[in-house]
Amino acid sequence: MPLSLISKPKSSKRWPDLDKVWTVGGILEWTAFYFKDLGIDRPRFETELLLAFSLGVERIWLYTHYKQPLMGPELNRFRSSVIRRSRREPLQYIIGEWGFWSLDFYVSPSVLIPRQETEHLVEIAAGMARHGSKMFDICTGCGNIAISLAKECPSSFFCAADISPEAFNLARRNAMRHKVSDRIRLFLGDLFDPVKSAGEGCFDLILCNPPYIPTNEIGCLQPEIREFEPKLALDGGEDGLSFYRRLIPDAIGFLNQNGHIIMEIGEGQAKDVKDMLISQGYQDIAVIKDYAGLDRVVRAKRP
Ligand code: GLN
Repeated sequence: MPLSLISKPKSSKRWPDLDKVWTVGGILEWTAFYFKDLGIDRPRFETELLLAFSLGVERIWLYTHYKQPLMGPELNRFRSSVIRRSRREPLQYIIGEWGFWSLDFYVSPSVLIPRQETEHLVEIAAGMARHGSKMFDICTGCGNIAISLAKECPSSFFCAADISPEAFNLARRNAMRHKVSDRIRLFLGDLFDPVKSAGEGCFDLILCNPPYIPTNEIGCLQPEIREFEPKLALDGGEDGLSFYRRLIPDAIGFLNQNGHIIMEIGEGQAKDVKDMLISQGYQDIAVIKDYAGLDRVVRAKRP
């Protein structure tokens, strides 16, 4: 009884006979229904990714082997990942990697899961980079911003820092995976501290997707985020703006003459962040929206 540890979906009309042989297609259908019942956003998609991961195959394989019966050990592996997901652990942490900017990144519960909206920051930075630009990615997490840009801008050089040792190690593994370690220098430490001690000098672009959720809003987020993603990567202090308050003044001393700072922001934060940039004398301030029409990225030129 492969799925006996999982409670029966409340309203299932498609509840399978547990004594029958499970096929790829059968287990996919059952689990997608189960996930739907649990309120998981993209039940079929997630089921396919989890099954492909548990079997060690590409997702397309599931469709070319739809009628294939599954063996006990395969079902057991799948069952344990279904149980984890049913407890709201993010799919990305179960399968251990996630796509961003068309690259796959190792992820773990020590880092924020890369979000599609953060690709806007990468796109803007790639558009501003010049031959040989030097960039600094602060709060690098799994390294997704710096590594994607390193692939996009082959003549650029990068520094990337994170305060979490686990994130630092993961970013290092991802840089090796994508063969850009020779152009990314990784640092462990808080904001500008490590590049200052290393005498890295100034940068053409400073990039940051800082923690920006107000502390008391974290508890209202979906369980996948509030219970599993690292608070360190989410919590932006009482009003969500505490990192911008430090970043914006401190970055001035680390930007080249025509250097820019590019930051991701949360909903409703554009005006406050813009005001901080204005009060520090930054120029050419622009707020860029994401595809959902929300203010997502702010960029500004050094005072
Ligand atoms: N740089 C990573 C990302 O943008 C992590 C950001 C963070 O930890 N706040 O996804």
